[in-house]
Amino acid sequence: MALDAKLHDIYDEVLGRNPGEAEFHQAVREVLSSLGPVVQKHPDYVDAAVIRRLCEPERQIIFRVPWIDDSGQVQINRGFRVEFNSALGPYKGGLRFHPSVYLGIVKFLGFEQIFKNSLSGMPIGGGKGGSDFNPKGRSDMEIMRFCQSFMIELHRHIGEYTDVPAGDTGVGQREIGFLFGQYKRVTNRYESGVLTGKGIHWGGSLVRTEATGYGTVFFTEEMLKANKESFDGKRVVVSGSGNVALYAIEKVKQLGGTVVACSDSSGYVVDENGVDFDLLREIKERRRGRISEYAEEKNVPFSSTGSVWDVPCEIALPCATQNEINEEQALTLIKNGCRYVAEGANMPSTPEAIERFREAGIHFAPGKAANAGGVATSALEMQQNASRDTWSFGFTEDRLGQIMRGIHQRCLETADEYGKPDDYVAGANIAGFIKVADAMLALGV
Ligand code: GLU
Repeated sequence: MALDAKLHDIYDEVLGRNPGEAEFHQAVREVLSSLGPVVQKHPDYVDAAVIRRLCEPERQIIFRVPWIDDSGQVQINRGFRVEFNSALGPYKGGLRFHPSVYLGIVKFLGFEQIFKNSLSGMPIGGGKGGSDFNPKGRSDMEIMRFCQSFMIELHRHIGEYTDVPAGDTGVGQREIGFLFGQYKRVTNRYESGVLTGKGIHWGGSLVRTEATGYGTVFFTEEMLKANKESFDGKRVVVSGSGNVALYAIEKVKQLGGTVVACSDSSGYVVDENGVDFDLLREIKERRRGRISEYAEEKNVPFSSTGSVWDVPCEIALPCATQNEINEEQALTLIKNGCRYVAEGANMPSTPEAIERFREAGIHFAPGKAANAGGVATSALEMQQNASRDTWSFGFTEDRLGQIMRGIHQRCLETADEYGKPDDYVAGANIAGFIKVADAMLALGV
């Protein structure tokens, strides 16, 4: 993905200013690689340093998170919140608790979030946070003490008009509950709109749990429709078995497709009859167990070697984590007849994998378009909180469906306008960028 000269200078500046942050560099390069035709048409974006400003977070917060484990030992983790861009609304984006988290990961996720949130059409800026805390194997009380300590610092930086965190990998409704409880205790405010992904009886929205997975499938359905196809009878592989994957699996089945394989960090299972959503949810959500338990209970193959992308499919939905499809795996998918890839996770395909998909004419939807349903439904949660209302499941799911159809249309129209027909990467990057860039120009330096 070559960059034109002006954009190359900007990219070099980003490299120099953010050494060692490979994932952030990758995310910036991916967006810049789409902006050539935009800066040709609108040189003011370069003249007013809009792109350079966009690449520098408005604020980066790094803090110590001390907490006491069940054996009475003091543990230390590092907490982050990167408030990247607030031109369109309060910073919005999840918190990730995973041992791989460092500033470069939080910045890549926060940068992606700016364009995703813009593309969603909702009035939200971009941000992201998290910690290198590993929740795996920790008791509920350890999770609670960690979340409370995390919020003791974070509370000074967030607010319903300032910055609204939510979940991401390792942060679900349990963690949001502990975080919200601590925010309420410390501030003495029942400020529902300060966090999203809350429980349904304490300010949460129906469909928020399902939204990212459902949204990815709704987006894929639009891609299929654009080619006069449907999910009916299609073989689908979904990587991951967390929140995003789980509800993608449920929706694919509802729309007539068959999910033949899914995975977790220990390996993958193949179930030719279609992955049993209820059993998978029981294992993953209730028992917090491993995917091998699914294989044992269903008597289907489990593999801890190779990858879920070895399983032939027509539609691939990577819903696990960043850079989970490399070039070789992309080639395997292509060889086995895959024709559609829609990213439920953030940046799951490496740049080389995306290149191979493009060369092979695969319909490829990047995460910032295909997985925007989660954060868009967070914005719907904020709307309900602001009006002290609760919407029905059906109404909220319809809104999500409309939002995903809108994103799909914006991607294709923008791609067309800039001479890149059917290129969802160009469409998503350009449409997401232009809205933020125009707001930044309007708001001044
Ligand atoms: N972590 C999700 C994402 O990557 C959701 C963020 C939110 O709801 O604020 O978009």
